[in-house]
Amino acid sequence: MKDRLPAPLFSLLQKTGELAERRRVRVYAAGGFVRDLLLGIPNFDVDLVVEGDGIRFARALAQQYKAHVVTHKRFGTATVAFADGHAFDVATARTESYDSPAVLPTVRRSSIREDLRRRDFTINTLAVGLNADHLGELVDLHNGLRDLQDKTLRVLHGLSFIDDPTRVFRAIRFEQRLGFQLDRDTAVLMKEAVNMKICHRLSPARLSAELFHVLSEREPVKTLARLADFNLLQCIHPRLKWSPELARLMKAVEKAVEWHAGLSLGRLKSPWVVYGMALMDLLPQPAVQETLARLTFPRRHTRSMLRVAQEGARLLRTLDRTIQPSETFRTLRNLPDETLIFLMAKTRSKRGKQHIADQITAYRQVRPILRGNDLKAMGLEHGPLYNRILDRLLDARLNGEVETEADERRLVSRLAERG
Ligand code: ATP
Repeated sequence: MKDRLPAPLFSLLQKTGELAERRRVRVYAAGGFVRDLLLGIPNFDVDLVVEGDGIRFARALAQQYKAHVVTHKRFGTATVAFADGHAFDVATARTESYDSPAVLPTVRRSSIREDLRRRDFTINTLAVGLNADHLGELVDLHNGLRDLQDKTLRVLHGLSFIDDPTRVFRAIRFEQRLGFQLDRDTAVLMKEAVNMKICHRLSPARLSAELFHVLSEREPVKTLARLADFNLLQCIHPRLKWSPELARLMKAVEKAVEWHAGLSLGRLKSPWVVYGMALMDLLPQPAVQETLARLTFPRRHTRSMLRVAQEGARLLRTLDRTIQPSETFRTLRNLPDETLIFLMAKTRSKRGKQHIADQITAYRQVRPILRGNDLKAMGLEHGPLYNRILDRLLDARLNGEVETEADERRLVSRLAERG
């Protein structure tokens, strides 16, 4: 741990263990953090499990560090956000029992042993002791370390996917992200679960969360293709299928997202939306509408995905023509970056691609020299004319019709005369 973690994080974990000792509780780091630590993958999302009252412990930790704490009483969990940017999710060790399949489980307080037993795959059951006398000691109750070394994803029991169908999505995410293989029995169980149409029992909110995670992977395309191998795209919409055409579009999206990342314009805020747009691109419009109405994505993203489905083809036809920069600007001006990147990937027209690239890298940054105040100083009466003139000035600048401030003033005078 000392070798692989940044020194401030290691020290924080060590101090957390000392506090645990003083408060007579046992504390462990568990799950993805430990998995990635052992794999040598940077992951500083620390999940702590407390044998005892997790919320009380989180409060004490926050107090010691003057950190910010948010508690979720119903789940016995808390998040402690430290001033240096680190954050720990703290949970009370718990047991879950499933009263009926695919619904959220009933939760009871318990030990680390039981807490680890409710987890999805053996590689995610690993924990590390933090108390001073056990600092760094690996808790491996399900042969997680062996599976980590063998690059194997294995469920803990035969009903795992039935209990919680989100695990089929998680399995494929981990398989693709880590380059692991599903253990043979696990793959069979997964296929059986899919054949039982288990994912149709998932609530729209849980399905949406899983799809969001898939689309947010670093390489979502191979993850989506693999979901298709297991007939899982049908959970999103029965007509959704992988095809060479969709694969081509996805590749083009990857390229466009990469192109944008290299621009130093600031990162795309929600690249997952671009992949989401691509995923739905080959569906007929009513199916896109149905899908988006069911999924619980943030409203603004739902709206832009819907708009692309409805207007994308028309926008691309406009952009395929030889048009003035001002027309490109006005065609694309109200669209979020995610939509622009998607359109760029979708169009097969070189000219269309270039127009979109120009919009992103150049046109959007263009402003006339003169502002409203300058028009006022020129004696123009304030009113709707102002906006029309400023719009025209912007067009003229985009199209290279004006260069200097004097050019702009001349244009303003001409426009004002015409009213
Ligand atoms: P990621 O790197 O994608 O964040 P993670 O393993 O850290 O992966 P989380 O979703 O943060 O994933 O979950 C933390 C831990 O909680 C997991 O490692 C796993 O032990 C457990 N867990 C999460 N989801 C489930 C689930 N659906 N069923 C059982 N255990 C789960």
